[in-house]
Amino acid sequence: MSLLRVENLRIRFATARGVATVVDGVDFSMQAGEALAIVGESGSGKSQTALAIMGLLEEGAQVEGRICFDDRELLGLPAPEMARRRGAGIAMVFQDPMSSLNPHLTIGTQMAEGLIHHRGASRTQARAASLRMLDAVQLSDGARRLAQYPHELSGGQRQRVLIATSLLCEPRLLIADEPTTALDVSVQAQIVALLAQLRRELGLSLLLIAHDLGLVAELCERSLVMYAGRAMESGPTREVLAAPAHPYTRALLAARPRIGGGSGRLEAIEGTAPDPARRPNGCAFHPRCRQAADRCTQQVPSPRVVGTRQSVCHFDGAGAVR
Ligand code: SF4
Repeated sequence: MSLLRVENLRIRFATARGVATVVDGVDFSMQAGEALAIVGESGSGKSQTALAIMGLLEEGAQVEGRICFDDRELLGLPAPEMARRRGAGIAMVFQDPMSSLNPHLTIGTQMAEGLIHHRGASRTQARAASLRMLDAVQLSDGARRLAQYPHELSGGQRQRVLIATSLLCEPRLLIADEPTTALDVSVQAQIVALLAQLRRELGLSLLLIAHDLGLVAELCERSLVMYAGRAMESGPTREVLAAPAHPYTRALLAARPRIGGGSGRLEAIEGTAPDPARRPNGCAFHPRCRQAADRCTQQVPSPRVVGTRQSVCHFDGAGAVR
């Protein structure tokens, strides 16, 4: 049985320009203990997918499909029931550690909140658990940290606090949305190592939302590449990165800077991602795709198996028409 199953997920918002479809029929599942990355540019729908799983989409979102956690449907649950399920099983770490913490409350107060509300812990129990978790995320001098305010910590320290807070209720699934984007490069490496270690030690499932393919390679066995709200390619991370089957994955890889990475030029993906209220006909990637043919402008491609991967393109990885 899958720990998380997302089926035909569609998320739309009414806007002044018309209905914006930000996620358009996405399917994936995760087994317990597995790490899956959802990869794509800004606006690909990856963060909206994560927010839908958490039940934290903005008001007005129209959501269809299924999101089953531990074989129980989450979509359509009343907010208090959703909060209970979420608190018991799923936690999320957001991109910007500063804006995710309340500047007016001490770290100790913010860490204790979830345990007190979701688990009925006393303040003393919550403090003891917070100290243990700060130790687990390798943030030294825990008692002093609990008395500090967010602005007194560095970006890396704040992200460790957020990871520790998210793990306090012992979730089975941790969703990490671009957890290193706002950090310096050296701190990013520390946070990646920490997430990998915590995953191993706690047996966590990890759903990583990322645009950084290097981060994905280090943390996740499987990857799902999204563009304009649709899944483009999915499969084992090693193979998706080593021999991408989909033109969009290939373009993402070609645009990726590498440290000391040879003399090859980086290739920008020309154009911009489509406005979700004015999506192109056919394959959503066709206005930017170098391999696009006439049928790409008319027909939405169906998912096809290419080796160990699933690619949503009219052509196979070698360019042959299917
Ligand atoms: Fe490119 Fe056509 Fe494949 Fe879309 S279906 S990715 S436009 S080749």
